Amino acid sequence: MEELVVSIFFCSVLMACIGLLAYSERCSSCGNMLYHFFNNKKANLVIGEAYHVCKRCGAKEVKGTVDCSGYVVWSNGNEGDFSEDGEHYRKRYHGRDGVGSAGDGGGSGGDGGF
Ligand SMILES: [Zn+2]
Repeated sequence: MEELVVSIFFCSVLMACIGLLAYSERCSSCGNMLYHFFNNKKANLVIGEAYHVCKRCGAKEVKGTVDCSGYVVWSNGNEGDFSEDGEHYRKRYHGRDGVGSAGDGGGSGGDGGF
């Protein structure tokens, strides 16, 4: 049953890696280990800071920079876009520049005008 041993070994290595990552990236306020994987993303476009927000205790940590259009670059190199109020985040994927984003908002208003 060597395969079983090997797969158990790889599983535990994988778990250890995830655990280590979770541990090193845990919430600095409440110690939430799921913080790295499950956090809210918020931004303040006025001062140009993007945050990870702990879902358990609400602690904010600056994790990236955002420009006035909502374009964010995280400290780990990922990119994304925030809505104008910094509440809604959408991840931006590399290598697909120019491909129309589905449902790009901002259509011209003017329903039932003058
Ligand atoms: Zn927390």
